[in-house]
Amino acid sequence: MAASPSTIAAPELYSHPARRASLGEGLWVSRLLPSRQQRMVGAWCFADHFGPSPVPPGKKAMDVAPHPHTGLQTVTWLLDGELLHNDSLGSRSIIRPGELNLMTAGHGISHAEETPPEHSNNLHGLQLWLALPDNQRNCEPSFQHHRELPQLDEDGSRLQVFIGSLGELYSPAQVFSPVVAAEISLQAGAGTRLPLNADWEYALIIVEGELQVTGTQQSLGTEALHYLAPGAQQLDLVSDTAARAILIGGAPFTEAIVMWWNFVGRSAEDITQARADWQAGTRFGTVTAYRGERLPAPELSGRPRASR
Ligand code: MN
Repeated sequence: MAASPSTIAAPELYSHPARRASLGEGLWVSRLLPSRQQRMVGAWCFADHFGPSPVPPGKKAMDVAPHPHTGLQTVTWLLDGELLHNDSLGSRSIIRPGELNLMTAGHGISHAEETPPEHSNNLHGLQLWLALPDNQRNCEPSFQHHRELPQLDEDGSRLQVFIGSLGELYSPAQVFSPVVAAEISLQAGAGTRLPLNADWEYALIIVEGELQVTGTQQSLGTEALHYLAPGAQQLDLVSDTAARAILIGGAPFTEAIVMWWNFVGRSAEDITQARADWQAGTRFGTVTAYRGERLPAPELSGRPRASR
């Protein structure tokens, strides 16, 4: 239940530890979503935090060969370094910090993500997925790169909204459900107040330093998903040290999804079909710009089940 304006309570907070996951080639990431405790946050169904990692000259920090997606949008957001995206539509994009790569898989697309030949010797960022609602999940695939995103600088805090809107800041990125994603940067000793929608759920992913939520005794750190239950109308953050965090949120997703490997569907049959189509070389196109083999689908062991 939403608090009335006169009784603004501290948000209900639950911290779920990240787990280490491998993207192959020695690249380890912190997987924040899904977890056993938290399957989704709004339409957000997947969140990986990678780095900060040094990238030696001539080396690739990331080299994920062509692989398919269906039923979701991928959101790539960097805090440091750069990544090269190539997809089966022929889109080619180098993304840098403060820019957004948004790929709408719809019915089917494939892409590769790798460190470009020219790089700044660091990689730090996130990859997030949004489940597409049922009426959009078989839409035409598309890719958007956004270089101009709204930003607000105030008293040692910086807010940059890359998905949805927060306060007066609106991202131009095309999404299909009520969601938000924003980066919050605080200088040492600074604070900020974020307006929340009391009907939405949110999560904070700390990517640098530590943050405190006013009204709680908790210090929030990296390597965890800090879940905020619906009901709060605002979030007051302060930090003693320089800190950065990503806020994701949205209206609770009411459809039960089935998620397996890189696919989001509604049934085990959706997943089995997507896997068969990738293995057969149909539906997901070809990433012609990538030099190397595409990723084979893992074996399906057991029947993929709905996650909520
Ligand atoms: Mn991908």
